[in-house]
Amino acid sequence: MSPVTYFIQSCPTCGRRLQVRVEYLGREVSCYHCSARFPADCTPPKADVPSLTFRDLVTGNPGPIWDNCTCR
Ligand SMILES: [Zn+2]
Repeated sequence: MSPVTYFIQSCPTCGRRLQVRVEYLGREVSCYHCSARFPADCTPPKADVPSLTFRDLVTGNPGPIWDNCTCR
């Protein structure tokens, strides 16, 4: 039995933390909680990265998700 390695990624839609197998990196995965589909990526969006790019990849619909953050 070979060990399975996971990384933690926050769902871009519902914001919950997910365990994603490293072998799914770069592929599209579904959120366990809200069934949102998004590309598996171990580098979450940062405040200095335009959030539209990541959001468009996920849903194709613009909407205030990350923009609600008040820590900036
Ligand atoms: Zn979700």
